[in-house]
Amino acid sequence: MSPRLLLNKLNAPRLTLSLLLLLSVSACQQTTPSYKTSIFSFGTVIQVEISDVNQVQAQQVFTAIEDDLKRMHILWHPWQSGPLGRTNSLCGMAGTFSAPTSVIPLIIKAKQLAIQSDHLFNPAIGKLVKLWGFQQDSFDKNTPPDDAKIQALLKANPRMTDITIKGVRFTCNNPAVRIDLGGIAKGYALEKIIANLKQKYQVKNIMISAGGDLKAIGQHGERPWVIGIRDPLATDKHTAIASIRAKSGDSIFTSGSYERYYLANNKRIHHIIDPRTGYPAKGSLSVTVIHPDATTADAAATALFVAGPNQWVELANKMGIKYVLLIDDKNNVHVTQAMLDRVEFIKEPASLFVVRP
Ligand code: AMP
Ligand code: MG
Repeated sequence: MSPRLLLNKLNAPRLTLSLLLLLSVSACQQTTPSYKTSIFSFGTVIQVEISDVNQVQAQQVFTAIEDDLKRMHILWHPWQSGPLGRTNSLCGMAGTFSAPTSVIPLIIKAKQLAIQSDHLFNPAIGKLVKLWGFQQDSFDKNTPPDDAKIQALLKANPRMTDITIKGVRFTCNNPAVRIDLGGIAKGYALEKIIANLKQKYQVKNIMISAGGDLKAIGQHGERPWVIGIRDPLATDKHTAIASIRAKSGDSIFTSGSYERYYLANNKRIHHIIDPRTGYPAKGSLSVTVIHPDATTADAAATALFVAGPNQWVELANKMGIKYVLLIDDKNNVHVTQAMLDRVEFIKEPASLFVVRP
């Protein structure tokens, strides 16, 4: 994807699990009703909109989604006593043990994506994430950790390649490994939920959005699902800088420093940790990725955020990610040509860097 082209001032067209079952009918194109619900899970509000079904079918689908989310949240919590929590405790003893089958496929996928991303997506750094205080749903009162503790974890260098899996036999060769699937679990969950809905309920037109990360299938009546890319500097989370018309099967994932953060000395301490430094990644405000596979989109958005404005192109090429939009900390927008062809800017970027293939 080179050379890079700079277009300045472009005038171009961006658990406690609780359920809020807000079943509502929204008018779409006068004729096609759609049903919506909001579910609180994975520390965020999950919004579901389904079209071309009746109210009873919509309710069945919403209940199925809620059940799946509840189950997955328990499975993948890194610090509670569920399957991943137990796997993490056993990892601390560094040895071979039988891991629960319910977490193995996602850990295998996470390991593949960690390797593809040169370990910038590194879910083995659970201890670092916890040290910065992002293991909880609420972290407003956090304070940054001591540098000495960060350096000790960096020295221990936990990586997904410290884990080997043969069937259910799980070997952890580094006692510093704690698996935190926060950077990939939403993607994997959306992929599984949609596959389940297609198979069981023959769902054809649905959009599931988990705090801005989403997967869309089919259409919304006569028109495609339209997705907004949040302005990372706006205080109102509904302010978009651009929109994307989703094609059926698209997974559109954004990693942003605005998602989970606290302030320390007026500086934003956000939740995406650079495994090379042990500190919150610098250089990016947000990264949006489109990919057919939601798990890949989720991991890639996190990895490219860490790579930042100077290294994302190389990593996107390595990971085979075609559609990327990165907003750097100076509010410049960097896009692949393929992504530029898909976005419509609502707000003109300060400057736009386009990467041509
Ligand atoms: P996302 O919003 O998908 O970018 O995921 C961010 C979440 O992933 C954080 O809240 C952490 O739980 C976890 N995380 C933080 N840094 C990394 C990293 N470098 N690689 C993998 N997971 C990470
Ligand atoms: Mg992610």
